[in-house]
Amino acid sequence: MKQILISLFAFIFSLLGWSQSSSHQRVAITLDDGPSGVLTEQFLALFAQYDVKVTFFQIGQKSVEQTGLCKQILEQGHEIGNHSWSHQRLTELDRSSVRREIEAFQSFCIDSLAYRPVFFRAPFLKQNAYIDSVIKNNQLATVKADIYARDAMAHLSHEVIIENLNKSIPDGSVILCHERQHTLEALKMLIPIWKEQNYEFVTIKKIIE
Ligand SMILES: [Zn+2]
Repeated sequence: MKQILISLFAFIFSLLGWSQSSSHQRVAITLDDGPSGVLTEQFLALFAQYDVKVTFFQIGQKSVEQTGLCKQILEQGHEIGNHSWSHQRLTELDRSSVRREIEAFQSFCIDSLAYRPVFFRAPFLKQNAYIDSVIKNNQLATVKADIYARDAMAHLSHEVIIENLNKSIPDGSVILCHERQHTLEALKMLIPIWKEQNYEFVTIKKIIE
């Protein structure tokens, strides 16, 4: 039944004008706001099934309570990016709080995971010149996005997410998703279709190589 549904979706999308690309295209899925326990594990299982590598932009407060899961993410070839310690609007914080939000995340990863994140995404994508300077001082690079799942709200149907991602995805695109149940359901439908269209899913580091 699932296979039939996937084929049906592939057919509908091809009618809607998705690029039925025969060439090899590299795309980076990014998943924000985790880790989220069992849900993260379900994303990892899906990615392992289809050999998809992604970048998790994690929150420090959640990561520190789930060190084992963070290690699992790295062991499976995914990347962890800095999404701040507690996901506040950094543009509304004083300078020392901004530094703490960014640097506490780096310290946690270095000390507990023996891993130094090299990419940063600001909460709510809000950044200013001072934040830019802290990023630079910590040898981080800001990652924005080209394609948005618009999936951050708690209760959405996965059909809405599929519709939001129903577009031609150019080579080198960064797709912004969140760790949500509806996003997992949408990606379960979309990844097999994308794979059939010859998309390769890689980390940010790979995409900028
Ligand atoms: Zn976020």
